Amino acid sequence: MLKNFEDYQNSIALLKKMAYHYYVLDDPIATDEEYDKLYHQIKSYEEINPNEIIPSSPTQRVGDTVLTSFQKHKHLERMWSLDDIFDPQKLQEWIKRIYKNYPGMAFTCSPKFDGVSLNLYYENGILQSAATRGDGIEGELVTQNAKTIQSIPLEIPYKEGIEIRGEIVIARDDFEKINQERIKTGENLFANPRNAAAGSLRQLDPKITAKRRLKFIPWGIGKHNIENGSFLELINKIPQYGFHPTPFITYCKNAEEIGAIYEHLVSIRHTYPIMLDGMVIIIDSIEVQKKLGYTIKSPRFACAYKFPAIEKSSKILSVTTQVGRTGVITPVAELEPVEIEGAIISRATLHNYSEIEKKDIKIKDTVIIIRSGDVIPKIIKPITALRDGTQINIIKPTHCPVCGSELLIEDIFIRCQNLSCKARVKESIFYFASKKALNIEGLGEKIVDQLFENQIISNILDLYSIRIEELLKLEGWQEKKAQNLIKSIKNTKNIPLWRLLNALGIEHIGEGASKKLASSFGLEVFKKKYNDLISIDGFGNEMAFSIIDFGIVNKDLIEKLFEIIEPQAPEIKNTQDSFFNAKTIVLTGTLSKPREKIIELLESLGAKMTSSVSKNTNIIIYGENAGSKLQKAEELGIESINEEQFQKILESEKINF
Ligand SMILES: [Zn+2]
Repeated sequence: MLKNFEDYQNSIALLKKMAYHYYVLDDPIATDEEYDKLYHQIKSYEEINPNEIIPSSPTQRVGDTVLTSFQKHKHLERMWSLDDIFDPQKLQEWIKRIYKNYPGMAFTCSPKFDGVSLNLYYENGILQSAATRGDGIEGELVTQNAKTIQSIPLEIPYKEGIEIRGEIVIARDDFEKINQERIKTGENLFANPRNAAAGSLRQLDPKITAKRRLKFIPWGIGKHNIENGSFLELINKIPQYGFHPTPFITYCKNAEEIGAIYEHLVSIRHTYPIMLDGMVIIIDSIEVQKKLGYTIKSPRFACAYKFPAIEKSSKILSVTTQVGRTGVITPVAELEPVEIEGAIISRATLHNYSEIEKKDIKIKDTVIIIRSGDVIPKIIKPITALRDGTQINIIKPTHCPVCGSELLIEDIFIRCQNLSCKARVKESIFYFASKKALNIEGLGEKIVDQLFENQIISNILDLYSIRIEELLKLEGWQEKKAQNLIKSIKNTKNIPLWRLLNALGIEHIGEGASKKLASSFGLEVFKKKYNDLISIDGFGNEMAFSIIDFGIVNKDLIEKLFEIIEPQAPEIKNTQDSFFNAKTIVLTGTLSKPREKIIELLESLGAKMTSSVSKNTNIIIYGENAGSKLQKAEELGIESINEEQFQKILESEKINF
């Protein structure tokens, strides 16, 4: 029993120390029993004296509030993703490129953990927010879940604003335990520790996250005010704030030293308790980092040197087929289950029948399978030496396994042409709702299947007339789930036109093409003729015919969908009139808007964007700290305009940006 506030404060300090030794240093100074006892004493004191609760008390880690959704959160400094390097030769080239301008640069290398990135923001020493990476500019706010993670301090001794970045991971053992639990409760298993970490971090109820034994391992700093010339020194300050040290972080003076630490990491990757998928190489000098800057996608001063894919072998038990939304039949190998990097693999696509022929794959063959990172497992080749005479050839189907229609052989593809083939319709609905398309939450493959089999939907259009009563009659549906689904379907109203076009899954028409169609023709897309369509930059015969055919076959569907969804078409700009039309433009310096947005805008106005200055450049638009490019442009007598002038021109063209 704690006597007074002072006693309470001291107990909290002691409990924090125990937790730090246990969770961060992996070096316990108390037994679990002692820890629990003290924890409960603190808890009882807080129950009696709720007004005296200290926010950073370890009892305050797990909140009671269950969220309904995650808020978006803008990172103060962008969370870049790194360019991947897969082989030693590419690495040599990368180093050579850096040495060309900065000979003798040193690097800091650290393992790349296979988890999910998290950005923590502290101010006045208190954890203010925790957000997932998202698109790098904004992520989702998961602060109350992050607080449940014991290796994330709620309070740090550094008082200025600082973003600390790291990876949320689950150790292999803990991953096994979670899946064992899930087998017992009949839940879907997590495919690998990374998925388990991501799924656990994105729980609306923090109590679930708290149970998952997530760990935070720092690897970087975003916005901060610490004066420091070396990345390694900077990163080594983080453990002083109560965080886990970054394991294996190494200062490398040259390519040989980089090679040595890489070899070491590869050699321990199978036994290390946390999954690693490569090594991050970063130039140590922060000054040079700033000088090298960023491409549109990633920093020039760092890369991710991936580990080689892991090869395993397994036996093909049988070959099944899948019918995709375009009717293409894909053969799938059903394998004897094999574990690769924490994931159990029991199926792998064989892509198409000519691939099978080319690789000479047969049923009952032992095959080599690889899987690296998020990549879907791939069958590389059969081990023909292990054939024992039981192998059977894989026969091309002649009829659709789902609807029985005769199949059409088209080049390397075999296709079911029946537009109302159940498999095709289901796949097209599923695609329409998927993350890549309209991102209708709560409408995954299983739900589509259930709604389809129960005749609640038989095409995309039916989604918009689902009634709540119908859903409630189905197994596993309650009021809330039903309302949420109907709400997320309704939310697709007024989406940008290009997203709707993309979601229709028209063959050969992806995201980029959908955007071009929307900005060129607006709502008139499906009324356009062949000549109009091929006049778009990058559009050929196949794409044009694909749109025309789709428009004819699905005329009613399209009309009704447009009526219900009312997609927003961009104003069709007459780019001929723009100052930027047909000009070759280079951006340089720190600009106040994301580069990709500026590029997108200028391209839509007919500009050609390039990254380096040459005599063909017409205009250079520069922001703060513009360096050599601007200088070169001025030497070449190229027109240079600053951001303010750029804005003025846009305003004069009545463009809101
Ligand atoms: Zn079919």
